[in-house]
Amino acid sequence: MEQFESFKASQLYCRKCAKSMPVRERLLLILPDKDIYEYLCTGCAESLGQREVTLADKRLASLRKPRRR
Ligand SMILES: [Zn+2]
Repeated sequence: MEQFESFKASQLYCRKCAKSMPVRERLLLILPDKDIYEYLCTGCAESLGQREVTLADKRLASLRKPRRR
């Protein structure tokens, strides 16, 4: 069983909801050398943080999933 999870945040503290909330990831920006994702609260859709995925990360991810085409 091989799944690419890396270190994704699944819950972050939301000020509006005043507690840790599950988040969903949204692609915010695509740059030449990296993608930027935004974490949105599933309760109120507030932006709770960002994550950068560099090309190196993506290459690693594709190495871990050799059959994906
Ligand atoms: Zn919230």
